Amino acid sequence: MGKIEDLEAINGAGYQLTTLDKAVGLARANSMWPLPFATSCCGIEFMATMGSNYDLSRFGMERMSFSPRQADLLIVAGTISKKLGPVLKQVYEQMSEPKWVLSVGACASSGGIFDTYSVLQGIDRVIPVDVYVPGCPPRPEQIIDGVMKIHELVKTESLRRRYNDEYKNLMKTYNIELKNDE
Ligand code: SF4
Repeated sequence: MGKIEDLEAINGAGYQLTTLDKAVGLARANSMWPLPFATSCCGIEFMATMGSNYDLSRFGMERMSFSPRQADLLIVAGTISKKLGPVLKQVYEQMSEPKWVLSVGACASSGGIFDTYSVLQGIDRVIPVDVYVPGCPPRPEQIIDGVMKIHELVKTESLRRRYNDEYKNLMKTYNIELKNDE
């Protein structure tokens, strides 16, 4: 878990200098509001991750958001049918920037064992994914590891990344309109 001492900073008697990017990144990473988009067995694994044994709230994440507008981490856990693809994309679009996506398990990441006409062969066909967690199902430790990797991204991401051309082009490839575009 991130602490103020983790910041790359210049320390002196009674003061600490760092960049705004790093300070905001640390605050964001330790107060994420996840939106669980759970459809099947991997969702149960995620519930175990929220339970007292693994306790995701240790990382400032006890507040699940079931409203996309009040969430910044979309956790997709389970099999996503092609019919559900547009719904998932709509939920992603309703989330405000900045936002991140964690794909939990083989089904969400690649369709898993369901190489069939009705199953989406990976959620990255409809929305961009930041971190993939392998496994069928992944254990809670793996899900926590995925969350930690998201936290690293959040801590090191520039505040301006969402306005750069690379990000804009990524959104264009998914035909997603940036709401806070300048
Ligand atoms: S990856 Fe395995 S455990 Fe997870 S939803 Fe698919 S079939 Fe179920």
